[in-house]
Amino acid sequence: MERVLVTGGAGFLGSHLIDKLINNGSDIICLDNFFTGSKENIEHLVDHPNFELIRHDITLPILLEVDKIYNMACPASPIHYQYNAVKTIKTSVIGIINMLGMAKRVKSKILQASTSEVYGDPVEHPQTEEYWGNVNPIGIRSCYDEGKRAAECLMMDYHRMNQVDIRIARIFNTYGPRMALNDGRVVSNFIIQALRDNDLTVYGDGNQTRSFCYVDDLIEGLVLLMDHPTEIRPVNLGNDEEFTILELAETIRDLVGTKISICYEPLPSDDPTQRRPVITRAGTELGWAPSTNLRQGLEKTIKYFEEKLSKA
Ligand code: NAD
Ligand code: UDP
Repeated sequence: MERVLVTGGAGFLGSHLIDKLINNGSDIICLDNFFTGSKENIEHLVDHPNFELIRHDITLPILLEVDKIYNMACPASPIHYQYNAVKTIKTSVIGIINMLGMAKRVKSKILQASTSEVYGDPVEHPQTEEYWGNVNPIGIRSCYDEGKRAAECLMMDYHRMNQVDIRIARIFNTYGPRMALNDGRVVSNFIIQALRDNDLTVYGDGNQTRSFCYVDDLIEGLVLLMDHPTEIRPVNLGNDEEFTILELAETIRDLVGTKISICYEPLPSDDPTQRRPVITRAGTELGWAPSTNLRQGLEKTIKYFEEKLSKA
């Protein structure tokens, strides 16, 4: 049985990934420091014979013997990654050095959860993997963006110098059940606000765009990428339908069925104006494409938050 390490396994994406891998018959080590993750996300797994949990911070070395590493550990929401910016970049850079060291030592495959943020505020639109990006190196998002860019650099250098078998997933905005109530990203914010009959907080004029991928689709893409025999190049994973933030607000208001208003708040600095992935590489190399559209994914996510809020 293959043994798989998932760092950040108690987080939103990590916990869904573990569910999928356990279903596929893998033996899982979940590693997390519980900064933004929660025991609730993995409590259904604690008695599973193929599940093991380690409270650990990936900025510190650790010795484990595994066949595959999914490096998901890193706060992903701007409010959380800006809370301790120095810690965020340490998590990406020192964290991936520790994980690549492990991959080199035990000859395991390693997948890095990279991000569309490596494209920054993109001048090329939509974004292919060939685009080098437009990232502010000294702004409030840099700890995250530059940390992820440095992690990609380290992945490639360990591959070139030490033949580590790497996979780089550039993940675009993904949403779904198990996002934390205090996550702060736009989809969970709007859904929680709508369910509580609070106004929706649109930052800026709401004309900035994002492309939202439902979590199940994303996880399928991650596993396909890891299991690809040779694809070491970065691969965009996301849904290529693009919406303005105002369209998202209106769709959520409509699906929740409330008459709340939209209130406008200042746009945070360096907030990207547009973002949409070209997913041709994932289609050609992995045979992957998302199958859940925005309304379908939002309906499932709204149902999750309805239940969660009714218990809160
Ligand atoms: P999340 O905040 O829910 O999960 C991150 C997990 O990592 C949490 O469980 C947290 O406690 C853990 N963690 C953070 N720092 C750690 C450290 N130093 N040591 C050990 N564990 C640590 O976020 P998510 O949305 O599940 O994102 C998972 C990964 O995917 C992140 O690397 C993120 O950058 C990447 N990603 C996510 C998205 C998205 O839209 N969800 C988009 C692009 C990239
Ligand atoms: N946003 C918003 N209201 C919120 C949270 C976010 O209008 O309550 C905007 C934010 O300014 C950005 C977009 O929604 O333009 C997506 O933000 P998120 O934090 O989800 O992800 P990212 O900016 O990292 O793509």
